[in-house]
Amino acid sequence: MPDLGAPELMLILVIVLFVFGGSKVAEIGGSLGKGIKEFKNAMKEDEAAAAPSSPVALIKAGQTVCPKCSSANLESARFCNECGSPMAVTVTPGVTTTSGALT
Ligand SMILES: [Zn+2]
Repeated sequence: MPDLGAPELMLILVIVLFVFGGSKVAEIGGSLGKGIKEFKNAMKEDEAAAAPSSPVALIKAGQTVCPKCSSANLESARFCNECGSPMAVTVTPGVTTTSGALT
C-alpha cells in the first residue's frame, strides 16, 4: 500500500482535471459566476419592481380600495370587508340621505 503524500495527491488532481477536461472546469466556473451575476440582477429588479407598485394597482375593475387598510372591496361595498371602516364613497355619518336616491 503506497503512502498518499502531497505529490500523489497532486498527481490525482491532475488526472481528475485530465478526465473532466480543463474546459469543462472552466465552464462550470463560468456558469457559476454568470448565475451569481444573474441572481444579483434579479434581486435588484425585484426591489425596483416592488417599490413603485401600490395596492391600488392590484385593484380590478368594479372594485375600490379601503382608505384605512388599503384592501380591495367591491365598489358597492359600504364598509370594508377587512377592517369594517366606512368606505370613501359612503356618506359621512350625520348626513341624512335616503337610500337609493342617487341616480
Ligand atoms: Zn379596510
